[in-house]
Amino acid sequence: MRAMVLRRPGGPLVLEDRPLPRPAAGQVRLRVTACAVCRTDLHLLDDELPGIRHPIVPGHEIVGRVDACGPGVELASGTRLGVPWLGFTCGTCSFCVRGEENLCDAARFTGYHIDGGYADYVLADQRYCFELPQELDDAHAAPLLCAGLIGYRALRMAGPAERLGLYGIGAAAHILIQVARHQGREVFAFTRPGDRPAQDLAQSLGASWAGASEERPPQELDAAIIFAPVGTLVPAALRAVRKGGTVVCGGIHMSDIPAFPYAWLWGERQIRSVANLTRRDAVEFLALAPRIPVRTTIERHRLEEANLALERLRCGVLAGAAVLTLDSDSTR
Ligand SMILES: [Zn+2]
Ligand SMILES: [Zn+2]
Repeated sequence: MRAMVLRRPGGPLVLEDRPLPRPAAGQVRLRVTACAVCRTDLHLLDDELPGIRHPIVPGHEIVGRVDACGPGVELASGTRLGVPWLGFTCGTCSFCVRGEENLCDAARFTGYHIDGGYADYVLADQRYCFELPQELDDAHAAPLLCAGLIGYRALRMAGPAERLGLYGIGAAAHILIQVARHQGREVFAFTRPGDRPAQDLAQSLGASWAGASEERPPQELDAAIIFAPVGTLVPAALRAVRKGGTVVCGGIHMSDIPAFPYAWLWGERQIRSVANLTRRDAVEFLALAPRIPVRTTIERHRLEEANLALERLRCGVLAGAAVLTLDSDSTR
């Protein structure tokens, strides 16, 4: 099978021909039809995450068809499943026991600790796979598996905010705008200065205002979610939220947050991060998405073009999400 492999820090990904992996007990092997490209994949490439083992196959927004089952798994061949970032939790640590499996001390993540979906086939623990909304084809469903799920969790952490600011209008925000509007919230979209395409996308999806990240919105925000990995956005967002408001950092990595006056935090404003997802998040969000219904804007690339897709994400020229599509089945 083909796989795009990160052999060393900094990359680029290298196309390899690998033997078909055999599913162990509890695992399924999926024939990958689509895998979305996430900002986290860039952090992996840039060696910005702790404990990366090389070589690793990135990709944690995987849609595929069951092709083989390991002992103890009974799924019909051809069943469509999605594989998200959360690939394994221990079930016994204090976090798992409290229902916070996203914080599990022994968690393993797809495309980071476990070979991911930038390949023709992938192995996954069946307990961490999900059925996907029928309404979306494989390529359009793939971004739900991280951009959608992490965005949904970040929205929950933002609390019952009526006026919500989103910093960084990429894959996650373009889904989250639709969720927030469905819930009756007003959305304010912040982009890099002059990024008209992203601002237009946000407004076409229902944002009532779009502007540059250093601008103050026309009204005070109840909460803001930062998806761009840019630490200077934290004080900027704090200044845009009202007293008692919350700033949620949605990414796994961010450049350093500059010092800022305590007065900007004063007034019971909060800053918090969102880490990973729980399976409950996935069940809830994947049930909600077709009711909205969430539509994803995607740019398709072939598997061999993974480096190009990553570079386009890095440069900020993507509208919505990049998705690697692996065969003709990916349209259904
Ligand atoms: Zn991701
Ligand atoms: Zn645990």
